[in-house]
Amino acid sequence: MSFHQRGLLAAIAGIGLFGGLAAATAAEVNVYSARHYDTDLTLYDNFTKQTGIKVNLIEGKDDELVERMRNEGANSPADVLITVDAGRLWRAQEAGVLQPVRSETLEAAVPAHLREPEGHWFGLAKRARVLVYAKDRVQPSELSSYEDLADPKWKGRVLVRSSSNVYNQSLVGALLAAHGPEKTQEWAEGVVANMAREPQGGDTDQIKAVAAGEGDVAISNNYYLARLINSDKAEDREVASKVGVFFPNQDDRGTHVNVSGAGVAKNAPNRENAVRFLEYLVSPEAQELFAQASYEFPVADGVDLHDTLASWGKFKEDELNAAEFGRNNAEALKIMDRAGWR
Ligand code: FE
Repeated sequence: MSFHQRGLLAAIAGIGLFGGLAAATAAEVNVYSARHYDTDLTLYDNFTKQTGIKVNLIEGKDDELVERMRNEGANSPADVLITVDAGRLWRAQEAGVLQPVRSETLEAAVPAHLREPEGHWFGLAKRARVLVYAKDRVQPSELSSYEDLADPKWKGRVLVRSSSNVYNQSLVGALLAAHGPEKTQEWAEGVVANMAREPQGGDTDQIKAVAAGEGDVAISNNYYLARLINSDKAEDREVASKVGVFFPNQDDRGTHVNVSGAGVAKNAPNRENAVRFLEYLVSPEAQELFAQASYEFPVADGVDLHDTLASWGKFKEDELNAAEFGRNNAEALKIMDRAGWR
């Protein structure tokens, strides 16, 4: 083959490649994300380095992203939706903006209870809904379960955010699965009767109220406490120093855990790249960065925890499928409404 012929072949190959790009098979993946952590960008860069697939990130609020996908319909450029809480993932699924995916890699890395059974979404990190108590007024031995928070001994002492919050809807959805509607209704009424104040603010505000003496025990996702512990503000660390963390229901079904998760968009133009992207996010190297950025727990085995989370020790988690309490969100909200949980 002459030098000239080789040059010609290379030119033809080049045209072929260019033709491929023109046919919209450019190596990219469009990620709609409700997560905003700087280290996530490092993760996406690493994915591009490993695969050559460019990540186009569109950030937004959870419910807005789902609404946007719904409005874009068949023309949506979205390949992947990343959001938090199984309740929201369930709503995205119900809105018809996700499609089922089968992947041995995803199914091996993500425990069955942390993914939707048909593959509409997969947990990528998990968060525990823990009890945060005043160290000077509560002995850990007095705490036991979510159920116990309805006991009259906690009258005027319980802090929890509003029923409009998805984390509480998922928690109550899990109680519904464990006890059915009547007992869950009774429980919600008991908790309302024990509240230290009308629900206000987010989980961090409940922890701060414990530290300030407004109440003695708060319900919070674990990462809000971890953020205070690791804050660069002295007043946050002061709050954290006054409280302890307790993992409820260790003697029965385990502590309620929820997920940050993702699914492949219904009309994903780059479906294969979307699956590869999710598979990458459950790899051990990605899991460590993804979970530690948000003080969440990795979903995959054998991945190092953030030191703060590791210091809390191992705990038993409720293995109820996240899709079940996600599905129960609407009924949970009705129960809380009826109980007067604002
Ligand atoms: Fe949160």
